[in-house]
Amino acid sequence: MMDSKGKILQLQHYSVNDGDGIRTVIFFAGCPLRCKWCANPEGYSLKNRILYDSSRCLACNACSAVCPDRLSYDLDKEQAGRDCSGCGMCVTACPTGARRNSLYEVTVEETISFLESQVIFFEQSGGGVTYSGGECTFQTEFLCALSRKLYDMGISQVMETSGYFDLDTVRPVLERMDLLFIDIKLMDREKHKYYTGVDNASILENIKLLGAAGKRIVIRIPLIMGVNGDDSNIRKSAAFVRQHLPNPQIELLPYHEYGADKYRQLGILYKNDGFRSPTPEEVKKAEDIIHSEDVKIVSYK
Ligand code: SF4
Ligand code: SF4
Repeated sequence: MMDSKGKILQLQHYSVNDGDGIRTVIFFAGCPLRCKWCANPEGYSLKNRILYDSSRCLACNACSAVCPDRLSYDLDKEQAGRDCSGCGMCVTACPTGARRNSLYEVTVEETISFLESQVIFFEQSGGGVTYSGGECTFQTEFLCALSRKLYDMGISQVMETSGYFDLDTVRPVLERMDLLFIDIKLMDREKHKYYTGVDNASILENIKLLGAAGKRIVIRIPLIMGVNGDDSNIRKSAAFVRQHLPNPQIELLPYHEYGADKYRQLGILYKNDGFRSPTPEEVKKAEDIIHSEDVKIVSYK
């Protein structure tokens, strides 16, 4: 059988923030959502995109010399470079790392070989592998093949997901997970569409069904003032979690504006619609509301 191939943004060892123990996080490319605050815009698509960091560029033109389209070295001015084939030849030619590929392709077997050195840490710490993204379920076939192999190897698997997936398609993968981190970004349907580009109805339905099936779930809320940090949304989110999960738990992830430079490097306009990070007092207030709804606050950070 052909070894299934996937596209990943990054594979990060030694994480202690993404589940129990020491974990390797695999960031999958591709996502059906377009959250306005997204910190990983290079993960939107399954097509390779070139990140260009002008502060590291020597204007040596080595990139232009190998480019099949003869695009200028300065991608900040060369708009065509933002929609090029993504062949990556310029990245290989660049001597300073001013150019970077957004993703790379791996097979299941290659991914497993990257993980081999980590198995000892997984065993000693109770850790394993965490699938993240982008949205890891966007590449269902690869995820299914990889998770089946790791399951057979007895490695713990955890998923971080938007919850926006077709449950019947993804169910075999979910059954192999020891823990699911699922986001509730907003309870209001219209606001959810405005801020993420998709409806939240299927996300909330998936959480209900997985809760009823007894899956171990932690709900994550990216706490963003001006988007979802108001008392009413926090209370509604917590009430939903209490009502539908047998062991109701929420992790709050206070928003930080980490992704802005990546937008610049990708040539994407970064539009902040007036949202901001919460203050410590605002985080405490949200925690108090969640507690008052009888939901436990957990932290993996
Ligand atoms: S990825 Fe390929 S086509 Fe795009 S700028 Fe680099 S060399 Fe040119
Ligand atoms: S090869 Fe790298 S350093 Fe040289 S001009 Fe291109 S981006 Fe700049």
